[in-house]
Order: sequence, then C-alpha cells, then structure tokens
Amino acid sequence: MRIKKRLFIGLLALSLLFITAVLAGSWYLLVNHTSFLNRLLLVLGFFTLAVLFLIIALGIAGLVLILWQERSRPFLQRLGLIAVNTLFPVALALGRRLGVKAETIKASFIEMNNQLVRLRGLLIEPGKILLLAPHCLQWSGCPHKITVDVYNCRRCGRCPIDSLHALAERYGVRLAVATGGTLARHFVKQYRPRAVVAIACERDLTSGIQDTQPMPVLGVLNSRPHGPCLNTQVNLNQVEQAIQFFLYGKTISQPQVRSEGWEVSSSV
Ligand code: SF4
Repeated sequence: MRIKKRLFIGLLALSLLFITAVLAGSWYLLVNHTSFLNRLLLVLGFFTLAVLFLIIALGIAGLVLILWQERSRPFLQRLGLIAVNTLFPVALALGRRLGVKAETIKASFIEMNNQLVRLRGLLIEPGKILLLAPHCLQWSGCPHKITVDVYNCRRCGRCPIDSLHALAERYGVRLAVATGGTLARHFVKQYRPRAVVAIACERDLTSGIQDTQPMPVLGVLNSRPHGPCLNTQVNLNQVEQAIQFFLYGKTISQPQVRSEGWEVSSSV
C-alpha cells in the first residue's frame, strides 16, 4: 500500500490546530474569568497541569533517591519512567542546544537504566533470558544467514557471534540476532523473555529499552572501530556480567569467555 505524504502533513496541520485551540481556549477563559463555569474550567485545567507537574517532579526526585541510596523503590521507579518518557525528547532537544551530542545523552540514559535494573535484584531462570545481538556484530564477509536462524553460524570464530554462542550455551540463555528494532521486537514477542541483555548502539538501545518497558533490559553498547553498522565489536565480559546479574543478582566469578582483541566500549 502506498502511503501518501498528505497523511503526515494533514496530521501536522491538525496538531497545529489543536495547539491553537488550546491556547485560544485558555485565553478566552482567562479574559472571561468572571463567569463561574469559566472559572471552574480554569481551575480544572490548572489542577490537571499541576498533577502532571507533580508526577514528573516526584518521578525525577524518585530516580535521584533510588540512584543515590542504591535501593529499589518500585512505585518511585514507575513515576520515574513516566517522567523520563515525557521529558526525554525535551532533554534531547535541550542537550542539542547546549552542544551535548544525542549519543552522549542516550549513553547516559542507558547507564541510568542499567543501574535501575540492577537495583531491582531480579533472579530470572536461564530460559527466560534473551541475549539480543545486532546483525552488525557478524563479520561482513560471512555468507551465513544468522538473523533467520542464529544456529546457521558455523562458529568459525571470525566475529563475536561465536563467543556469544559460547556464552548462551554456558548459561543456558536464548540467543537471537536482529537486523534492527522491528526484528528485535519480533524476537521479544516470539520468545516472551522475562529479561533481556541487549547489545546495540546508543540509538537502538535507547529505543529498545523504551519500547519494551517495563521489561528489565540490561544494555551493553557495541563499539564501532570500522564505522557504524560494520563489523562492530562488543566487550564480552560486560555481556557475561549482565547475564550473571539476571541469573544470580550479582557477578559471581571472573568472566569465563574472553574477548581477545575486542574493545571495551561501556560498562553495564
Ligand atoms: S562466527 Fe559465525 S557469524 Fe561469525 S563469521 Fe563465523 S560463521 Fe559467520
């Protein structure tokens, strides 16, 4: 089906109309505030805004408290998620204005998410943990279609997919390789995990974490020594630690699978 450009333009115009109507309505109520009904509407509007503001303020304060005390508080965390989801686009736009790269802001968001997930102290059975890797980790010259079936990998050791197989076998977790967000969401629907260890770039990890909320996702950033989306690498120690956190609530031993020659890009 061919989607026409008119739909998007129409929705843009409708949004503008909506904002205009809200502003005009507010102006009318302010000017004619002597009537009881108008005053009531003004109070209701103000009350709604105040409640929204309170939820966001409590959510941010809650996040700060959780991270500061290093103690999980589910109710505050839920409010925090509302605050983050509401303010994230604003924070990105503000960051851009202040000269902070979107990538840096998203990496910071992933760090905060990982910390919050770790504090929840979850214990998940191996079969319910999904290790989700991006297709760009696969060596670009490999002829095997691992996104269709990850077991098409011949385990030749030319790329990190081999070691991810070793990790998945060692801990009994599921492994899937996705070409992008759509396939990643498909795997999450198909396998119905209770927790996900996701490897990706800042952009994909951020959208993945937000799309799957409130599912616990520990994100591990990949590194891109050859540029974006080509023969990317990952620190396997961090991947292993993330799996261990879900299995045991902590890191239990020195990581077993080594990432020789693969670069460290972020902490879990
Ligand atoms: S380890 Fe698997 S995916 Fe990587 S190059 Fe070898 S066969 Fe291909």
